Amino acid sequence: MTEHAPPETRLSTGPDAARTRPPAEDADVIVVGAGPAGATTAFYLAQSGLDVLVLEKSRFPREKVCGDGLTPRAVKTLVAMGISVSEQDGWVRNKGLRVIGAGKRLELPWPELASYPDYGLVRTRLDLDETLARRARQAGARLLEGVTVTGPVRHERTGRVTGVTARCGDTGDERSYRARVVVAADGNSSRLSVAMGLRKRDDRPLGVAVRTYYRTPRHDDDYLESWLDLWDGDRLLPGYGWIFGMGDGTSNVGLGLLNTSAAFGNTDYHSLLRRWLKGMPSEWGFTEENRTQPIRGAALPMGFNRTPHYFNGLLLVGDAGGMVNPFNGEGIAYAMESGEILARTIVQALARARREETERVLAGYPHALNQAYGGYYTLGRTFVKLIGKPWLMRFATKHSMARPALMRFALKMLANLTDPRGDASDRLVNGLSKLAPNPE
Ligand SMILES: Cc1cc2nc3c(=O)[nH]c(=O)nc-3n(C[C@H](O)[C@H](O)[C@H](O)COP(=O)(O)OP(=O)(O)OC[C@H]3O[C@@H](n4cnc5c(N)ncnc54)[C@H](O)[C@@H]3O)c2cc1C
Repeated sequence: MTEHAPPETRLSTGPDAARTRPPAEDADVIVVGAGPAGATTAFYLAQSGLDVLVLEKSRFPREKVCGDGLTPRAVKTLVAMGISVSEQDGWVRNKGLRVIGAGKRLELPWPELASYPDYGLVRTRLDLDETLARRARQAGARLLEGVTVTGPVRHERTGRVTGVTARCGDTGDERSYRARVVVAADGNSSRLSVAMGLRKRDDRPLGVAVRTYYRTPRHDDDYLESWLDLWDGDRLLPGYGWIFGMGDGTSNVGLGLLNTSAAFGNTDYHSLLRRWLKGMPSEWGFTEENRTQPIRGAALPMGFNRTPHYFNGLLLVGDAGGMVNPFNGEGIAYAMESGEILARTIVQALARARREETERVLAGYPHALNQAYGGYYTLGRTFVKLIGKPWLMRFATKHSMARPALMRFALKMLANLTDPRGDASDRLVNGLSKLAPNPE
């Protein structure tokens, strides 16, 4: 749908912004989607005094297909938002990552760093996402649940986004909302980005993963467990698997494949999961009788697989911008971090007096993302290509699992956990990320 843009107007930011905004606009910023990316963006925008309208198609608490694992990187982002992550508040802590592969198992504690805590967390997305949305609301963001965004509203001459059209779940009524800036935080499929012509890039990595929950005595494991090779009898299956204890009598169990694997497009993921679990010790209880949820799957968009991150008034954040870490499939921390980077950009942009100045600041957002992740994601894309070759993956697993020191380094690299001026391994990871070219 196309609408005429309101006349050029100066907007102030801060608590008075809503009062001075032209009546034609519903908010300073519209955020589409209230997952980790949208909620964090809205939180930081609202904290800075902007009037933020978040439109979310579902109602909280709502499920999201996920492994529910949070590394120290994600813990840091939660703490930064003032969220209590204590065990009394329902968070389950873990000490590190247990890696199983080539017939060996290694327990790798999270590194001790100044920049990140030395523990991770587990929390269902039912709880996590509601907590984040509530936090954004407490900061002053207006959240409308059960409102599905159906498309962008564009300036008829410039094509710039000036708002969105949306359908209200209760009444089915269609209406449009207007704002100066629109954020696509609508996840992996990001229909809003697609409607603006921004499709997924075929030259960037993509994962597909499935997960479910089982009642199991392993539910209170204090390590996240990652399986580098999956066996079906004596046959090696493609992919990697995980078992994350939820601390509530169940474990989140899942597996995934990357699009660099030959089996990617022609795999029955549900049957793959069942075949893998058949080989597990029976006392772990990974049987159909103990399964508490359906097996569900979704895609993991990695390494900036949708660009540009700013286009004609629309800013992409989290999965909408393909920000999952290609090394380990972690997306929550990157959704939240990119939300903060974006919010800080928008706050500065909307404080500028002239439209060209605002535009210049917004155009800096992709650069800020590149500064944060560009080189590291370039390395990640190479990594994903290499492990897509089964013989190389087997070779690397066999040789690295026999060398705990190498695996401790690998943990820092794969989980992106280093100090800027840390030990030799930190400096190596940071140096490699700096040397790697930023993606176009
Ligand atoms: C099987 C699997 C396991 C994973 N495991 C982990 C893990 O253990 N740890 C980890 O860190 N990451 C994991 N990830 C990745 C992680 O789930 C994502 O990276 C993360 O959810 C991205 O957050 P987001 O806010 O960008 O998107 P989402 O969490 O997808 O949120 C998007 C929001 O937008 C809403 N929305 C969508 N369309 C519209 C619309 N038209 N109108 C209004 N609202 C809309 C949705 O309802 C949703 O609330 C996993 C992913 C998968 C598939």
